[in-house]
Amino acid sequence: MVCTPSAPRFRGCLTARNQREQNGVQNNRVWQRACGLKRTVVEGVHIDDQANAIIVSVRPNAKARNRCGRCSRRSPGYDQGAGRRRWRALDAGTTRVFIEADAPRIQCHTHGPTVAAVPWARHDAGHTRDFDAMAAWLAVRTSKSATCELLRVAWRTIGSIITRVNQDVEANIDRLEGLRRIGIDEISYKRGHRYLIVVVDHDTGRLVWAGPGRSEAALNVFFDELGEQRAAEITHVSADMADWIAKAVAARAPNAILCADPFHVVAWAIEALDIERRRAWNQAKGRKIPESPGHRGRTTGDSQQIARSRYALWKNPGDLNRRQRHQLEWIAKTDPKLWRAYLLKEGLRYVFAVKGEEGQDALDRWLTWARRSQIPSFVYLAKRITKHREAIEANLQHGLSQGLIESTNTKIRLLTRIAFGFHGPQPPIALAMLALGSHPPPLPGRT
Ligand SMILES: [Zn+2]
Repeated sequence: MVCTPSAPRFRGCLTARNQREQNGVQNNRVWQRACGLKRTVVEGVHIDDQANAIIVSVRPNAKARNRCGRCSRRSPGYDQGAGRRRWRALDAGTTRVFIEADAPRIQCHTHGPTVAAVPWARHDAGHTRDFDAMAAWLAVRTSKSATCELLRVAWRTIGSIITRVNQDVEANIDRLEGLRRIGIDEISYKRGHRYLIVVVDHDTGRLVWAGPGRSEAALNVFFDELGEQRAAEITHVSADMADWIAKAVAARAPNAILCADPFHVVAWAIEALDIERRRAWNQAKGRKIPESPGHRGRTTGDSQQIARSRYALWKNPGDLNRRQRHQLEWIAKTDPKLWRAYLLKEGLRYVFAVKGEEGQDALDRWLTWARRSQIPSFVYLAKRITKHREAIEANLQHGLSQGLIESTNTKIRLLTRIAFGFHGPQPPIALAMLALGSHPPPLPGRT
């Protein structure tokens, strides 16, 4: 319909057009709010049937335009870049949403030709900031499969997202401020072949640093970031008894007392107990039914009982269920040597539970007991503990909380299990820092 100014219909036509324009503006504002877009003008919204998605066309507002993607400095234009681009945003109901805009390049004074910054997404990211925030929140709080299924992205993509979210956090806070008592530990995150060093603040229970590797050089990266002055303020370091940790701590944190981490010392005792359990299993009466087609080899009789009591022997007595308590009673009656090995493990746990002078006395008695036990694995353990006695006694004196170390250790190990499938060390580091550091990721749009 063509409107001419002569007809009385003209006024009605103009009102309708005004109405349509107003509705359009209103619509765009609704989408701007729904997508959490700041410093951004929504130009229009349409449905892309092929992609089965809602496309929100936008541009940065005048203040946000022509800024370097890396340093945010206002810069002259360079060229149109690779044309229009799309960023995945949070779904609207059940439908995927993409933000679409031009991605021109600017000429930055420092960085040269660079894609211009956009207010809704991080530089070089294919997802909006809100999408990143949601992914990080889910990754540290729910399972791998729930995160991927809900967001419709691969686990590797989640790995890149949490890495950039963590980089942003690191750029804005200093996690290494005010450290006094720390714990250093190494954990494997890829079936025993790749390692991370993690540093925990004993006073807050937070993870403060994580880096790839397990060597003196790798740990020195932490001390470099900490700086000489702050390293001198560290009073206690708990660690397993790896030589490279002791060397790095002695060289870089001169005022720190090195304490043996009770978690690891008790783990040595569990190892020794397990050697004894296997000895008992091999010597026990029990028919081993050999493997044959359709039959897995299995043991019966006493050796089966010993095989089944493995967890009962490892666990802390307070955590045993009734069946496991029976298994231990059975061992006490039938295999005195294995039973003594079990008591030796528990005895060492007791040393760390009582601490102080009582703990030191208990350690003395424990060493005599272990040396005379005639159980080779515990005689060896007694030697190993004597070698590291100074650090173990330091722990008994200064009483770094064993519960805290154990619970942080357990949490980190659980996280590394879901980190399988990530590419490289940065995503597992980011996951650990976001989950156990001082700044857990918030939900998008909330404070
Ligand atoms: Zn720049």
